Amino acid sequence: MTEVAKEKTDETTSQEDSTSGSSEQESKLPSCACGHTREDLGKSVDVSMRNDYNLIGWALIVFGITARPINVKWYCSRCSQVIDETSDPDDLYRYS
Ligand SMILES: [Zn+2]
Repeated sequence: MTEVAKEKTDETTSQEDSTSGSSEQESKLPSCACGHTREDLGKSVDVSMRNDYNLIGWALIVFGITARPINVKWYCSRCSQVIDETSDPDDLYRYS
């Protein structure tokens, strides 16, 4: 007869942010000249997103099938800079 003792470790971690020597910024998102990040998409009218598809992707779109882009870019129309771009599959899944 084996008795399994389940120990619950309730660690109450206090998540109070103490600003003691934290030199690293929270958001490492790249920004354009006027300070927009890709998080500003939908918040600022200056930020727009463009999806790049490969040839198969375009063919699928022509047939009305949703294709996943191979590359996503964020543009700022105010300073006409590319804020950020990604070809990371996780990011593409999130933003496509
Ligand atoms: Zn800008």
